[in-house]
Amino acid sequence: MLIRDSRDLQALDWEKTDGLIPAIVQDAFDGRVLMQAYMNPEALAHSLDNRVVTFWSRSREKLWTKGETSGNSLQLVAVHADCDNDCLLVLAHPSGPTCHRETDTCFDSSRPVRPRLAFIATLDRLVAQRDAERPEGSYTTRLLEAGVKRIAQKVGEEGVETALAAATGDREELANEAADLLYHLLVLLRASDLSLGDVIQTLESRHGQLKPERVG
Ligand SMILES: [Zn+2]
Repeated sequence: MLIRDSRDLQALDWEKTDGLIPAIVQDAFDGRVLMQAYMNPEALAHSLDNRVVTFWSRSREKLWTKGETSGNSLQLVAVHADCDNDCLLVLAHPSGPTCHRETDTCFDSSRPVRPRLAFIATLDRLVAQRDAERPEGSYTTRLLEAGVKRIAQKVGEEGVETALAAATGDREELANEAADLLYHLLVLLRASDLSLGDVIQTLESRHGQLKPERVG
């Protein structure tokens, strides 16, 4: 159930949870689970009203707006209650590392916890970061500085190479060329002021029944 505003708060089972409902925060863009904390009715209402994720801190016994000291806030996209109305799934856009250890998620260990398909979103974010910072020595920086026409030419070449690999039945080469094509396509979109998110939105609009209730 989608929790739209404070009028939906009464639908939740606060009694069963002693007034504190666990809230799992998921990255609205790439689906990674970022953290888990607790919300009381006040924290949830504050989150919905201000569109910034706010919890109840059990240790400090007060409202805790994520990022109030670190600046790494979570911009609220949507809140869903589970089937028993005693657990919340919070979709959000993080403005920086979510964990106090400066990692993206609290579940990071030696390797980031990420659904495999989410890697394309991570790569898209990296391209955006390269675009903003333009670090020297980066191939992406070089491409972006060469301009849209040059990147478009690369996408054309990689497209042809992908098609050739498929036509000749070379599966390993096909995977390689398809990877090149996807990467160059991400750079081309970025150089043209579009993002992977815009393309996904177009795909979603063609598949009405697969469209999420609210796009992250
Ligand atoms: Zn953490």
